[in-house]
Amino acid sequence: MKKCEYCAKEISYHEMFCSDECQNASNKFYEMREKYQKPFSVINGIFVLAIGICIFLYAFTKGIGAIGASVSMIILGVMYLFLPFPPEIMIHKFKLKKAIFLSRIIAGALILIAVVVLILYFTNVI
Ligand SMILES: [Zn+2]
Repeated sequence: MKKCEYCAKEISYHEMFCSDECQNASNKFYEMREKYQKPFSVINGIFVLAIGICIFLYAFTKGIGAIGASVSMIILGVMYLFLPFPPEIMIHKFKLKKAIFLSRIIAGALILIAVVVLILYFTNVI
């Protein structure tokens, strides 16, 4: 059975979306992604790399490692909240609505992990 490209509701074979609302929501998403794809990719690349470097640095200087990784995760998390651009494979698997929702869950999880790491660091647990 074919599914709506936005909400994943079952639809007939000659349709792409179940309703005008879904088509509009989908168009809006792709327009926004087109507009912000470049800054998104650049910021994403920089801070994913930064998290990796900070985790590596943690072995030598705990402070820079923990704070650097947390700040990078918060920046990425906030960006994913405002620009939830899931990877194509996720859009394909879950359809747009759920994929955007999952991106925001990941964003929330990143921010939460970062806050926990900061609390653990400043209370001298790690
Ligand atoms: Zn739909």
